[in-house]
Amino acid sequence: MLSEKIRIIAPSPTLAIDEKVKIMRAEGVDVIGFGAGQPDFDTPDHIKAAAIKAIEDGFTKYTPASGTKELKEAVCRKLKRDNGLDYTPANIVVSNGAKQSLVNTFTAICNPGDEVIVPAPYWVSYPEMIKLADGVPVIMPTTEENNFKFTVEDLKKTVTDRTRALILNSPSNPTGMLYTVEELKAIGELAVEKDFYIVSDEIYEKLIYDGVSHVSIASVSEEVKDRTIIINGLSKSHAMTGWRIGYTASNNALAKAMGNLQSHQTSNPNSIAQKAAEAALDGEQECVEIMRKTFEERRNYMVERINSIEGLSCKKPTGAFYVMMNISKCFGTELYGYQIQNSDDFCEALLEVAKVAVVSGIGFCADGFVRLSYATSMKNIEEGLNRIEKFLKKEC
Ligand code: PMP
Ligand code: GLU
Repeated sequence: MLSEKIRIIAPSPTLAIDEKVKIMRAEGVDVIGFGAGQPDFDTPDHIKAAAIKAIEDGFTKYTPASGTKELKEAVCRKLKRDNGLDYTPANIVVSNGAKQSLVNTFTAICNPGDEVIVPAPYWVSYPEMIKLADGVPVIMPTTEENNFKFTVEDLKKTVTDRTRALILNSPSNPTGMLYTVEELKAIGELAVEKDFYIVSDEIYEKLIYDGVSHVSIASVSEEVKDRTIIINGLSKSHAMTGWRIGYTASNNALAKAMGNLQSHQTSNPNSIAQKAAEAALDGEQECVEIMRKTFEERRNYMVERINSIEGLSCKKPTGAFYVMMNISKCFGTELYGYQIQNSDDFCEALLEVAKVAVVSGIGFCADGFVRLSYATSMKNIEEGLNRIEKFLKKEC
């Protein structure tokens, strides 16, 4: 018999689509996968070399549970260099990916029944993580017309006496949208006035286009910084998803609490991956820029192409590597014998008929949309969009 808590947790639909594509390929099916939420690039060589050296040096024992002092110092240097923020190692907790950083955060801040505001469309794992921490996810809808961004007015209407935190994911997975400095300031002011935390997931910080730069909400004022838990990691910036290194920057009390939690739950993140992360943060950043530029070219192509296909449309995202494609015009139609009533129906028909995998908007609380990742080669993007066009013209 499973516990109540675990029975209400749904599996991750983003990881599930990846699994499904792998299985279909193993069966010899030629599938184009737009599901992947990870860079298709290999981890840069100098990072791999640091890991190899760590093994050869025998850096293979437990480290402090919340990460090595050296890596925490490298994180502090990064936060100063890139975000203009002053932190010391006592503010940093290094974890097994940003996923663990988020789980630590919700566990550290939520009492049973505390509300965490989750702007929708949201990354699929947030509500489940909040529920695991006995919190209550409060979904705050946004609209495509407003670029999938909430306004401070929306936030004011959603905040209650039980509000413990707001999730801010800028640039966002799945929408790619980015909040402006003015918007961040207004959100920060409300957080101070109403006394709630801001869980600022900045994992896509390095993937921003059109010459726009990232601003961390923690940098808008000291008061806001004290209420912000920055979530970041190496998965997306340095193509290191499999290495599992993420981190938080927060006030000392929270960092200490999360370190304690981690000391019982998982102990330190992998010692070798920590050395690799140090090299990633302190080493040359040209590799990050090369990947960013490639993503930008792919985004431009994908957005233009989607908007040229009859029946489809999308907004141009400013960051991350996802496009939310509006498919609502297909609702109420029949395609190849499939009745298209919602995004799940569309995804199923597209995969079965055209062999193109996309993620249904339903898991992101965005029915009417599907998410396409452009973390795949231009060749795949062209072929996948050709197939989508044919599919909609009923030429498959
Ligand atoms: N936050 C967001 C918004 C993400 O898309 C991801 C992707 N997996 C994560 C956090 C977690 O990343 P990781 O655990 O690989 O560091
Ligand atoms: N974050 C990525 C995605 O949304 C990777 C999969 C996951 O961890 O959910 O696809």
